[in-house]
Parts: sequence; structure tokens; C-alpha cells
Amino acid sequence: MPIDATKPYDPSNIFARILRGEIPSKRIYEDDHALAFHDINPQAPVHILVIPKGAYVSWDDFSERGSDEEIAGFIRAVGKVARDMGLVARGYRLLANIGRLAGQEVPHLHVHIFGGQPLGPMLGR
Ligand code: AMP
Repeated sequence: MPIDATKPYDPSNIFARILRGEIPSKRIYEDDHALAFHDINPQAPVHILVIPKGAYVSWDDFSERGSDEEIAGFIRAVGKVARDMGLVARGYRLLANIGRLAGQEVPHLHVHIFGGQPLGPMLGR
């Protein structure tokens, strides 16, 4: 069920629980600002999620309330994960769903990194 991205942050969401170590994830990278782990239901040979450590519902929320340090740290982490995974030479795709029309399911900002195969048209039509 897609979320309403205007709702306040819900600390019981599944990615908050992953950040707190309450449920397992296949972690790839972690620093002061971000955590990256494999998507549980991969849509491509490489499908990684990168999340900020702070409590932000979506890209909209993060871009409004995140500090310059958090935003810079998060964006650098996304780029580093893609480089470390060897994705740059062949290319990859970033995706962030925000709210209902985009089909955002988890109310903690996450950027999807897709790679490892031709990724098709942007909106799949
Ligand atoms: P979105 O539709 O952009 O909110 O994407 C949510 C993503 O989270 C989906 O691709 C799910 O497969 C993924 N996901 C949900 N639960 C988990 C989990 N426990 N570990 C890893 N990925 C998850």
C-alpha cells in the first residue's frame, strides 16, 4: 500500500528497524550518514537500497529538513556504493519514489540503485 509522503515520520517503519539492527539486512556499506543493503525482492541483477541514518519520510522531507552535512553525506554515499560495486563503467539507474503516485511503500527515504543489465525505458512503457 503506497504511503502518504506528507505524514509525519513513523519510527516503527521497516527501514528504521533495519537501522536499529532489530531486523536483519544484507548490508553493503555504512558510514555516519547512510546505510546500503540489498533489496529483499531484487528487480535487477544489482538492486541496492541506500538510506539516510536520519528520520526522513522521503526525498521531499529530506531535501526540506536535512542538514547540508546530512544531504552531502548521503549523496556521496550513494555515489560511493555505486562505484564500489563496479557499476559506473556499464551504467546504472537511481530511483527514489515519493508518495502515492510513485508507489512508495516504505516511509523512510531510500534511493534504489539498479544495475547489471540494460534497464529499459525509464517508465517501463
Ligand atoms: P518503494 O516502493 O520505493 O518504497 O520500495 C521499497 C523497497 O523496499 C522494495 O523494493 C522492497 O522490495 C524493499 N524492501 C522491503 N522490505 C525490505 C527488507 N526487509 N529488506 C530489504 N528490502 C526491503
